[in-house]
Amino acid sequence: MPELPEVETIRRGLLKAMKGQCVSKIIVRRTDLRRPVPRNFIDMVSGKRILNVNRRAKYLLVILESNVVVIVHLGMSGRMVIERGTDPNIPSRKHEHIVFILEGDINVRFSDPRRFGLIEISNSKNLSSHELLKNIGIEPLSKEFNALMLVEQFKKRKRTIKSVLLDQSIVAGLGNIYVCEGLFMAKISPTRITHSLTFKEIEIFVIKIKQLLLDAIRSGGSTLKDHVSATGNMGYFQYKFLVYGREDKPCMICGEAITRINQAGRSTFFCNNCQK
Ligand SMILES: [Zn+2]
Repeated sequence: MPELPEVETIRRGLLKAMKGQCVSKIIVRRTDLRRPVPRNFIDMVSGKRILNVNRRAKYLLVILESNVVVIVHLGMSGRMVIERGTDPNIPSRKHEHIVFILEGDINVRFSDPRRFGLIEISNSKNLSSHELLKNIGIEPLSKEFNALMLVEQFKKRKRTIKSVLLDQSIVAGLGNIYVCEGLFMAKISPTRITHSLTFKEIEIFVIKIKQLLLDAIRSGGSTLKDHVSATGNMGYFQYKFLVYGREDKPCMICGEAITRINQAGRSTFFCNNCQK
C-alpha cells in the first residue's frame, strides 16, 4: 500500500505532467471502485484546466478551474501512470479504470486491480469539509506537527504510542511502516502508553519522523525520476528499512534480534533492546 512518501512522490510527478494542462477527454471504463465514480465525473472534469496537484494525507487532490477538485485515493494497489505520446484510443488495459487525456499528448491512467482506491469530485470551497477529508488530522510534515501538539494529544489518551500515531484523525497519513521506523529511530518502544512519554522523547520522535519521511520522499524522487516515461512504470520504491519486515534479523544498532508483535491486528517490528 502506498504510504505518505510514495503518495507525495506521485503527487510531484503528476504536478509536473499535469499542471497547466487542459483535460481534453476522460474515459471511464469502470465505476465500481471503493466508492462509485460520481455520475457527473466526465462532465465536471472535461474541458477544464488543471491548476495544481495537492495532497492531503494519502489523498491526491487535482485542482481544476471552476472550483472543481478531483480527489484520488490509491487504496491498496492503485496507480496513476503518466504516459506521453500514446494513442488514447488504445484498447483498455487490464485494471485500468479511468484515463485522463490531456492536451499536449499526455495521458494519466488510473489503474487499480483490487479496487480499494477511489475517485471523487468536490467543490474546492467545501473541500476541507468533504466527508473523506473532514476528520483527517495534522500533516506530519507541517509546522503544526510538533512536540507541543503531540504532548497535548498524548496526554488525553491512555493508548499505546503506535495506535495513537496510526490514528488518522490525529496525524494524517502515517502508516505502519513509517511509525515502526520512526519509533526505532527515536528509541521509543511501540508498546509505551502515550502519557508516559517525556517531552524530550516526543521532541526526538518528531524530528526523526520528519527526517525519515523527507528522506523517503527524496529517495522516491530519485527512484521514480523517469516515471513520466512511456513505459509508465511507476512502481513504489524500496526504502531501506531498519526494522520493518526484519523479524529475527539483527538490529542495525545493537545486533539483537528484531521482535515482531501484533498490535491491533498489525505487525509491529522493533528492537526490544534499543527501544525503551
Ligand atoms: Zn537494537
